[in-house]
Formats: sequence, C-alpha cells, structure tokens
Amino acid sequence: MTDYPDTDLLIDGTWRPAAGGRSIPVLDPATARPIGKVAWAGTEDLDAALAAAARGFAAWRPISAYDRAKVMRQAAVLLRERAEAIAVNMTREQGKPLVQARLETLAGADVIDWFAGEGQRAYGQVIPARQSDVLQITQKVPIGPVAAFTPWNFPINQIVRKVSAALAAGCSIIVKGPEETPASPAAVIRAFVDAGVPAGVVNLVFGVPAEISGYLIPHPVIRKISFTGSTAVGKELAALAGRHMKRMTMELGGHAPVIVAEDADVDLALGLMVANKHRNAGQICISPTRFLVHEALADAFIDRFTEGARAIRVGNGLDSAVEMGPLANERRIPMLEGLIGDAVARGARLTTGGRRIGNEGWFFEPTVLADVPVAARIMNEEPFGPVAVINRFASLDDAIAEANRLPYGLAAFAFTRSSATATRLGNEVEAGMLAINHLGLALPEVPFGGVKESGHGTEGGSEALESYLDTRFVTRKG
Ligand code: NAD
Repeated sequence: MTDYPDTDLLIDGTWRPAAGGRSIPVLDPATARPIGKVAWAGTEDLDAALAAAARGFAAWRPISAYDRAKVMRQAAVLLRERAEAIAVNMTREQGKPLVQARLETLAGADVIDWFAGEGQRAYGQVIPARQSDVLQITQKVPIGPVAAFTPWNFPINQIVRKVSAALAAGCSIIVKGPEETPASPAAVIRAFVDAGVPAGVVNLVFGVPAEISGYLIPHPVIRKISFTGSTAVGKELAALAGRHMKRMTMELGGHAPVIVAEDADVDLALGLMVANKHRNAGQICISPTRFLVHEALADAFIDRFTEGARAIRVGNGLDSAVEMGPLANERRIPMLEGLIGDAVARGARLTTGGRRIGNEGWFFEPTVLADVPVAARIMNEEPFGPVAVINRFASLDDAIAEANRLPYGLAAFAFTRSSATATRLGNEVEAGMLAINHLGLALPEVPFGGVKESGHGTEGGSEALESYLDTRFVTRKG
C-alpha cells in the first residue's frame, strides 16, 4: 500500500504549506486513527489565492476553447493513469470500498472529457435585426473567478464537476476542499496542473469552512459561488452571496422517495435499491431513503429488503470482499442513533440494524425501519447514512403527496410497469431528477441538481456550463 500523502495548499501554481504553518489531522474512518494532515489556510493564504485567481483568469480566458479542451483532456489522461493509487488514498480517508473509489476516479476523468468538449460548444446567437445594416449578436463569456466548496462524500466527483465546468467556460477557480478527505481532491487538481493549466487558474485551499466562505464569497474578485453540502449551510452561503450579488449554484440535501407501484417489478426494485441504498454507506445526497411501497407488496418488500440489508458485508473498504465501509466521520453516528431512536420511540419497527458496529472506526449497521410515523424526525430530516425507511401506501395520489411533502426536491425513484403511472410521476413528482425502473443519474451529460430547498442550478449537462457564463449582447451598425 502507498503511504497516505499529506496535502498542501495549491496557490498560484505552487503546492505549499499554510503561511501560518498550521495543519489539520486527517483520520482513517476505518480505525479513527490519524493517517496524515492537511494544510489549514489563513487570511494570508486566501489573499494570495484571490490574487492568483485574478491573474489566472486573465491568463486562461483568452486561450481558445479548443486549446483549453486539449489541456483538460490531458488532465483526464493523467487521472486515469493514476486512478489506482488515488483510489487507495480515497478509501483510506473516506472509507468507501475500493471498487467504488476506483469507479469514482475513472468517472471523474469522464467528467473532464465531457466538459472539455462542451466548452467548445458555448454558442451565442445572431438575433435578426430591425435594420439591414445592424448586426445583433450574443456571446457567451466566462463569468470570472469562482469560489467553490466541495464536501467529503464524493471527494473527486464533487470537485471535478465544478473545476471542469469552470475551466471549460474559461473561468479560474479557488476550491475549498473537504478537510476530512483532502488527498483525492488534491489528486484531481494535481492532474490539471501537471496537464499544463497555467498558474493561478486552479487553486486549492482547506481550513475552517465558515472562515473561508465568509472571506471568499464577499470578495470582489469572486464572481460566482458553487456549493455542495447541507441545506442549512447552503442557505447561509446563498444569503451571503445574495448580499454581494454573486451568481450561485447550490447542490444541497435530499430525502429521496422511492415509489414502488402495485405493478412494479419487485425483483428489479429490490436488486437495484438494496445495493444503491448502501453505496457509500448511504452518504449520498441522492440516496434512496423514503420507500413508499404499495400496500399489496409492502410486507414481502420489507422482509426481502431486510434480508438484503443483513447480507451487506460491512468492513474496511480496502478489503475486496467488503460492500460497505465505515461512515466518513464520527458525528454521523450520534446523528443516526438519534434519528433511529426517535423513530422507534414513535412506534416504527426496526427490522434490522440500528447500532454502531464495534468500537474501532465508525462502522454502522445497515438499518431498516418499517411503518414509520410521518412525524418521526427521520421522515423529515436527511439521514445521510445506511438507513432505509419503508412505508406503505394505498393509492398513487397518497404516494405522490408523501413524495412531495418535504421541502427537499433532489432525486426521486420509481418502479412501475405502467407507462401511464410513469408519465404521471414524471409530471407530478417534485424533484430535480426522477429515475424510473433503473438508476441512471449523475452522468456528466445529464442534469444533476435539485428544486425547492435542495438547491438550484445543475452540475451536469449543458446547463452546467451555462452557469459559469455570462451572456453579452453586442449590437453594431454599419
Ligand atoms: P455540514 O453541514 O457541517 O457540512 C456539509 C459540507 O459543508 C461540508 O463539506 C463542510 O465542510 C461544508 N461547510 C459547512 N459549513 C460551511 C460554511 N460555513 N462555509 C462553507 N462550507 C461549509 O454537515 P456534515 O456533517 O459535514 O454533512 C452532513 C450533512 O451535509 C448531510 O445531512 C447532508 O445534507 C449534507 N451533505 C450533502 C452533500 C451533498 O452531496 N449534497 C455532501 C455532503 C454533505
């Protein structure tokens, strides 16, 4: 196994420790022991990053989209070449099974490639004029230096979407990476630097999240904010960005409903959903959480889901037989215990799991709660862990009403053999993304984002690039 690397800041093309010499320990969630450290940026470092981002924007913006794409594609090549070592470090710092870490790294390279191409398609318009000697055009121009904040659950996927979109559009970027899992996002940034992105175009800092966002968002150099994290924090950052009139993309929490209609292929639903629920130990904003199963199917569904959850092999993600690793940080354990205890106290049935496993590392049992009252906290708060809640419904109207009850609106899933039901769900479920009879979310070429309190903007598909561009109108006579 490779040694886990310490992570420095990247400012103006140079990897360096924090000016104040401070650092934060990085812990292995499988053992709770320190494995390395990450530099902790202070104001001096942030000022240097801001100045570098301003210079980086001036250098990157005039480079043609064609040439920017060449550099980006080389970063994707490097990421693929380095994927094995990067994946091991991701598992060590984040906990997810190695196979998931490897896939995330390779998918990151696909994201870079996709945005590299998309940058070459940032088309403007020619608008028919009222006089024959007038030319009216729109141009898409990069919005300017971006401040991005990325979380620990997908240390590569979260950073690579923001950096790739920014770079493809011609922007520079300062990313505040996740302090819990710094090595893998740093590896993505390193791939861009080694591919030839000029100094200052990408910058990476870590530290105290609220201090860094409080400093970067209001700063006049920064023109756009992109944040992925909880709804509570997203609202604070959106308010700050609003006060300073900064464009923003907010990818926030979710509480995904899964509607299993009376005519569903239950084997298909169980096969996909048991595995999907436990991917990344449920620490996914689009994790299936509120299962709404037709009453005719519910008892058997609960029994079979429970069997499936019990069979999930939990352990250190470096062990190739393991299907679910530990939770990524210690604070998730009391959070989950609180939600589960509250549900049981209100009359829910705990059919499996519910507890921490052992006392070394932050392992948690795959957990199933059935027939949970709607007032229980877990029916209203995002568990962000390996907990499935399975309730029953009598009519599709009831299922849709429950799916739409919460302020969240990120992902939703459904299983049905009826195209009329599928059409109705597509029209009526309030979610940014709806997957019917398969998974298929989060590909680079399709939209990824929420509605309501799950945020706004998208991190995938052509609209993702749009949010890093301004539209400039030029009208000319003669
Ligand atoms: P949290 O709200 O403390 O932090 C979530 C993320 O936001 C972290 O990456 C953190 O570094 C960052 N953050 C927190 N305060 C910030 C601030 N003032 N400025 C800038 N960044 C800030 O929660 P947590 O315990 O780390 O994670 C659990 C919750 O976060 C979950 O319930 C989930 O809603 C949310 N989350 C969502 C995603 C996602 O993919 N949408 C990813 C990770 C966490």
